[in-house]
Amino acid sequence: MTERIGRSAIGRVLIAAVFALAAVFFLSVQTGQAASATKIVLDDREVTGARDVLTVKGTTMVPIRVISEEMGYPVKWNSGSGEVTIGGESDGVVLKLGSRSAVSGKGSTTLEQAPFSRSNTTYVPLRFVGTQLGLAVKWDGSAKTVYLQTQPLEGPQTGPNDDSDLPPNPAPGTTAASTVDQISFSENRLMIAVSGDATPKAAKYDSPYRIVVDLPNTSFGPLFAEGQGLLAGQQGSISVAGSSDVTGIRFALNDDSSARDGSQLRTRVVIDLNKNKSYEMYREGNLIFVDLNRSGGPSTPGVGSDGKKIVVIDPGHGGKATGAVYKGGPTLMEKNVNLDMALKVEALLKQVDGLDVVMTRSDDTDVSLQGRVDIAENLNADIMVSIHANSMPVGSKPTSGTETLYTKPESKKLAETIHKHLIEATGLPDRRAKYQNLHVDRESNLPTALVETGFLYAGGDVEKLTDPAWQDRVAQAIAAGIVEYLGL
Ligand SMILES: [Zn+2]
Repeated sequence: MTERIGRSAIGRVLIAAVFALAAVFFLSVQTGQAASATKIVLDDREVTGARDVLTVKGTTMVPIRVISEEMGYPVKWNSGSGEVTIGGESDGVVLKLGSRSAVSGKGSTTLEQAPFSRSNTTYVPLRFVGTQLGLAVKWDGSAKTVYLQTQPLEGPQTGPNDDSDLPPNPAPGTTAASTVDQISFSENRLMIAVSGDATPKAAKYDSPYRIVVDLPNTSFGPLFAEGQGLLAGQQGSISVAGSSDVTGIRFALNDDSSARDGSQLRTRVVIDLNKNKSYEMYREGNLIFVDLNRSGGPSTPGVGSDGKKIVVIDPGHGGKATGAVYKGGPTLMEKNVNLDMALKVEALLKQVDGLDVVMTRSDDTDVSLQGRVDIAENLNADIMVSIHANSMPVGSKPTSGTETLYTKPESKKLAETIHKHLIEATGLPDRRAKYQNLHVDRESNLPTALVETGFLYAGGDVEKLTDPAWQDRVAQAIAAGIVEYLGL
């Protein structure tokens, strides 16, 4: 027994050394890319940690430590609940890992992208956070730079009379069915986040060239109105720099009581163009996009760009949700076993060309089951693989074995392909790839499989689950199954 522990401890040290080397390698690769990465400038000072920013569907996502350590704003991270509080205790806004809702004392608003965790780092949407902190946010596409200023930036002047196609302001007290919670423009794409059902209509006009997007039966959400400093006139603008097509974005709330569809209020967003430009409008969940790239222009870089497949790896449980707990020796919690395995799978997949890997958590954080689904769906991921270790009901006989679970018929092939590799690697009894009613697969719109590598159970497979060499073999098998399924 002592000898076994000694051997596995040496193995652990070796693995740790390999991963330390891998970390150095990844760091140097990232530094090498810094020249082409997005920059963040706060009041003329470059925020150095910004080399870690990620662009997800045109939304700039920054690590929370950039906001706290480099920008100097208060940030509180609660790994137990997966919540980030940005700003002061009383006036701060709370974001949650995997959730597109942000909550403050003034209400809730919908984010363009949910905060997510990748490589032990929690990312939040920069424009939203900057706006919440009272900063003016400006994106310069040609310089790939986000400018943040503590003084308001000068934007195009917008008055009530400068555009004949804007109807008059509504009477006070009128309400709408849903709200516009965020408007942003980056990478030549307008994004409008809405809550509830909002059916947009877009049209193009000339002299001057502009695209007008109308959202019947909507008003501005309280956080958005507050963040934009909207006056009684309920209108505002976003300045746009570095776009060869767009000179500015304007928005306003209008009286719509003459509409026949029962709409009382309507929000209108106008993209001012300097030339005739085609566009495509589409909707993803609560997000409405008006994309000027989709008419043959340059594509938007980010997660899944260049046709890369997006794989979401989901380590089961986390934080207060420990999963199965083994007490036959030193206490072993399933959440940690799952995370160790998932990080190994992530490291292997990062070396595969044509693939981007995103984790639902990469530290000891609880993410709700729906939050995990939301992360995958927001990214338009190709597949999601949840990683678990198994347990038996109390009082059952010790059991051993490996199984891979799925719910939707579309997920069966993914589960079977992973299981084929997995069962060879675990060397445990084959409990097969099979149906089980799982939230993560039932509620997601993408193929999702859940692996139960072995039983975290006295007399079960605990020795294997804690053996680093076995963990490496199993991680390789899961990665191999994913790569085979995606045809890479
Ligand atoms: Zn589990």
